[in-house]
Amino acid sequence: AKILWNNEIINEEEVKIGYEDRGYQFGDGIYEVIKIYNSNVFTAEEHIDRLYASADKIQLVIPYTKDVMHKMIHDLIETNEVENGQIYLQVTRGTSPRQHNFPTPEVESVLTAYTKETSRPLTQLENGVKACFVEDIRWLRCDIKSLNLLGNVLAKQEAISKDCYEAIQHRGEIITEGSSSNVYGIKDGVLYTHPVNNLILNGITRKVILDCCAEVGLEVVEEAFTKEQALAMDEMIMSSTSTEVMPIISIDGQHIGNGKRGEWTVKLQQAFEQKIPSSIGL
Ligand code: PLP
Repeated sequence: AKILWNNEIINEEEVKIGYEDRGYQFGDGIYEVIKIYNSNVFTAEEHIDRLYASADKIQLVIPYTKDVMHKMIHDLIETNEVENGQIYLQVTRGTSPRQHNFPTPEVESVLTAYTKETSRPLTQLENGVKACFVEDIRWLRCDIKSLNLLGNVLAKQEAISKDCYEAIQHRGEIITEGSSSNVYGIKDGVLYTHPVNNLILNGITRKVILDCCAEVGLEVVEEAFTKEQALAMDEMIMSSTSTEVMPIISIDGQHIGNGKRGEWTVKLQQAFEQKIPSSIGL
């Protein structure tokens, strides 16, 4: 498969990344993961908008217009003939002699993107997944989709070591989000989720799910809830680009509801599925 390197689509072997790339040395950059369904780039507009918003927040200049970025992504997907999968895209602040402060303005950012064939996690979507609580030790700008993911990496590893699929992070008693997902609880016909602020990533799938809530008649309250409240929810869900509307059936070994995918979850999954593009749209 070919790689997008800055504005060129080239063979993998031709990509050259400097050992002093600031992404490599400092995690100084931003990224996106976008899903491809039946050769359509799902919610492309939202993902590219968020990429540029993340760039702005760290004063990183992406030397292409959004239109050019969309075109390059489409060209890559077309070149690689991706039908169902994802595109990973990152921009770093470029390569220059190691120093913490920004390099001089002539140092250009470095863009890389590649595609991968993936399939939907259908088994987990039906059976649900196990989660565990992990203290949220990340910084206070979790709204930026930054390459600095060490807190998320450690949280996910802790979950995996406990035979769980996801870590539900919390600051004190308050649940923020998963290590690579947003988290929701449903109780008595109301869906609760952490408000969009500096403590969580404003998930694109989260936005899609809130639309789905309106469609299925599920009330939404964007308010944080506690670990104790989470355990008492009728249903719990996590979401991300790759995991869609994923039921959480237990936390730290305690069943949520009856320990099976809940009824509202099924309705949201059906509404989500309706939004999946089915035909070739390139
Ligand atoms: N929160 C974190 C920390 C993430 O890394 C992700 C994405 O992987 C999400 C939330 C979900 O975001 P999205 O739905 O845009 O994929």
